[in-house]
Amino acid sequence: MKARLIRSFEIAPAVRHFEFEVLDVEQFDFAPGQFVSLSAVIGGKEITRAYSLASVPSGNRFELCLNFVDDGHFSPLLFAMEPGDESIWLVRLAISCGGSRWASPF
Ligand SMILES: Cc1cc2nc3c(=O)[nH]c(=O)nc-3n(C[C@H](O)[C@H](O)[C@H](O)COP(=O)(O)OP(=O)(O)OC[C@H]3O[C@@H](n4cnc5c(N)ncnc54)[C@H](O)[C@@H]3O)c2cc1C
Repeated sequence: MKARLIRSFEIAPAVRHFEFEVLDVEQFDFAPGQFVSLSAVIGGKEITRAYSLASVPSGNRFELCLNFVDDGHFSPLLFAMEPGDESIWLVRLAISCGGSRWASPF
């Protein structure tokens, strides 16, 4: 499933809050403690990283709070995203103890 960035804003140096919407679904349900796995093709390679959900369910939206990792592969891409950007895939919704509710391959 594709995710579109709605907006992001700085909350501290190298820390931003991001609001996304999941495309083509009306409702994106999750529970406290769950995280999403986001994927993107970077330099021709698919890269996936986990991010904890930082919001309550609201329609098809979800929010994240992210640290910028200087020499990272994925976080610089997220920090470079502009509103309307749909370059991110939401591939998994999971809980830290190992459960997953669904997966959507590239
Ligand atoms: C269950 C789970 C939930 C997570 N939730 C969040 C979240 O809510 N917000 C968030 O920002 N990240 C979260 N992470 C971390 C996230 O998945 C990535 O690891 C992080 O964004 C770095 O990815 P990258 O590709 O930019 O860096 P990489 O390319 O993976 O790393 C590059 C270099 O930076 C180092 N590095 C990696 N991460 C950090 C870091 N955080 N601080 C300093 N150095 C680092 C690595 O050791 C490596 O040397 C979570 C990880 C897990 C497993």
